[in-house]
Amino acid sequence: MNHPAPPASVRRPFPAELLSALKSLFGERVSIAEAVRANHGRDESPFDPQLPDAVVFARNTEDVQAVVRLCAQYDVPVIPYGNGSSLEGHLLAVQGGVSIDLSEMNRVLSINAEDLTVTVEPGISRKQLNEALRDTGLFFPIDPGADASIGGMTATRASGTNAVRYGTMRENVLGLCAVLADGRVIRTGTRARKSSAGYDLTRLFVGSEGTLGVITEITLRLYPQPEAVSAAICAFPSMESAVRAVIETIQIGVPIARVEFVDALAIRAINRHSNLTLREAPTLFFEFHGTAAGVQEQAELVQEMAAQNAGEGFEWATRPEDRSRLWNARHNAYFAMLQLKPGCRAVTTDVCVPISRLAECVVETEKDLKASSLPCPIVGHVGDGNFHVAMLIDPQRPEEFAEAERLNHRIVQRALRMAGTCTGEHGVGLHKIDFLVEEAGPVAIDTMRAIKHALDPRNLMNPGKIFSWAA
Ligand SMILES: Cc1cc2nc3c(=O)[nH]c(=O)nc-3n(C[C@H](O)[C@H](O)[C@H](O)COP(=O)(O)OP(=O)(O)OC[C@H]3O[C@@H](n4cnc5c(N)ncnc54)[C@H](O)[C@@H]3O)c2cc1C
Repeated sequence: MNHPAPPASVRRPFPAELLSALKSLFGERVSIAEAVRANHGRDESPFDPQLPDAVVFARNTEDVQAVVRLCAQYDVPVIPYGNGSSLEGHLLAVQGGVSIDLSEMNRVLSINAEDLTVTVEPGISRKQLNEALRDTGLFFPIDPGADASIGGMTATRASGTNAVRYGTMRENVLGLCAVLADGRVIRTGTRARKSSAGYDLTRLFVGSEGTLGVITEITLRLYPQPEAVSAAICAFPSMESAVRAVIETIQIGVPIARVEFVDALAIRAINRHSNLTLREAPTLFFEFHGTAAGVQEQAELVQEMAAQNAGEGFEWATRPEDRSRLWNARHNAYFAMLQLKPGCRAVTTDVCVPISRLAECVVETEKDLKASSLPCPIVGHVGDGNFHVAMLIDPQRPEEFAEAERLNHRIVQRALRMAGTCTGEHGVGLHKIDFLVEEAGPVAIDTMRAIKHALDPRNLMNPGKIFSWAA
C-alpha cells in the first residue's frame, strides 16, 4: 500500500505500566497481537493502516470507563471500534493509543413495543437488531450497505437506502449513554418522541465519530413492519433521465420507501457478482411500503413518472424472494464493483446536494468520470440527493491514487457550489477535513473545536479526526 493517511501525525508514548494495568483488569481481553492491532487500525478507506498500541474488548459501560480512565491517566488516546466499515480513515490510530472494540457489547437492553423504541448496546449490528425484532412486528430501517454496528452508525450519523422515507440516524436516535474523556458517564435524551429541554446533546454525539466520547447505549425509534411491500426496477436511456424521474417523484410527494440509482458500469458489476441479467443501463431500484392499496397507488404514480422520462421495462418484484434478491444485489454493489478491477481498492466519495440540483450535479460528474482513465461506477440514494462514486485504483500505482483524489476534489467542489455537502452519510474522518473547512467555514469549525476542547481538553478521544486540534 502506498497511501499514507493525511494529515501527518505524531504517535504518543504507550507506557508499559498502562499495558500492565489493562492486562490486570482485562486479562485475555487485551491484545497487542500484530494481526489484531492491524485489523483495528484500518477501515474500508484506501489508506495505509495505522495500528493502535493495544485493543481491549469491552463488555459493559464499566469496562469502557475503566479503559478511558486509565488512558487519561497516562495521556494515551482512545479509539472506539464498531465494525470497521467506515470509509474515510475514521479508525486509523494516527497518534497510537487503545482501540476499544465494542462488538461484545451487542445486547438488546429493552424493547418498548408500545412506544416503538428499543435500547441497545453499541456493538449490535443492524442485522442482529432486526433479527432480534423479528417477532415484534417492528423494524429498524437504517441500512448502510455494510452490516455496521449501531454504535458506529450513531457515531457517523449514517443512513442508507431507506432514509428517503425513514430519515437517518439523526432522526432515529432518541437518546444515548456515553463515557466522556474523563471517564464520567453522560445520559442524553429520553424515550419521549420529542423534547425541548436544553441543548440537544444527543445530536451532538450523533456524528461525533468517536471524538467526544464512547457511546455505550443507544435508544432508537422503531417502525411497524409495513402491511404491504413491493419493489420495482426500471432502466433509463441516460443518467439524467433516471435522476429526473426521481426528482419529479419526490417533488409530487410520493412517500417512496427506497429509490436507488445504479449506473451502467455498476449494473455490469452487480450482474457478474450476483448472477443477474439486468440490462446494462442507468437503472433505478424502487421500493414501496404501505397498505396494499397505498403501495399500488404509489407504484402507479412512479411508473408514470418513469415513462414520462423515457424509462424502459418497468419490472415488478412482489414476491419476497425476488425483492430480497434485488436488494441484496444492491447492497453488495460495493464488493461487486471492487471485482471490476482485480486487486483494486476503492476511493469513495459521497456528496449530497439539494434535490433540485441533483440532475445537474450527476450529469457534470458523469462527464468528468468518462474523461478519466479510472473505472468509476456511480450508485446513489438519489431520493435524498446523495450519490457515491467508487474510484477504482491499483494500490501499487500512486498516479491512480492522485487521479482519484483529483476527481474527488472536483466532485466535492461541485456539490459545495450547488449548496450541498461534502459527505451525505459517510462522515469526515481523516479524508474530508479540508473539505469540511470549506463547507462549514472558520467560525463553525472554531465552534466545533471549542466543544471538543471543553469535553476532551487533552485530545484523547479519536484524535486527528473531523478537524485539526489547533486553529
Ligand atoms: C460496502 C459498504 C457500504 C456502505 N454503505 C453505507 C451507506 O449506505 N450509508 C452509510 O451511511 N454508510 C455506509 N457505509 C459506511 C459505514 O458502513 C458506516 O460509516 C457505518 O456507520 C460505520 O459503522 P461501523 O460499526 O463499521 O463503525 P466503525 O467503522 O467501526 O467506526 C466508525 C467511526 O465511529 C466511531 N465509533 C464506532 N463505535 C463507536 C461508539 N460506540 N462510540 C463512539 N464512537 C464510535 C469510530 O471511532 C469511528 O470514528 C458503507 C461501508 C461499506 C464498506
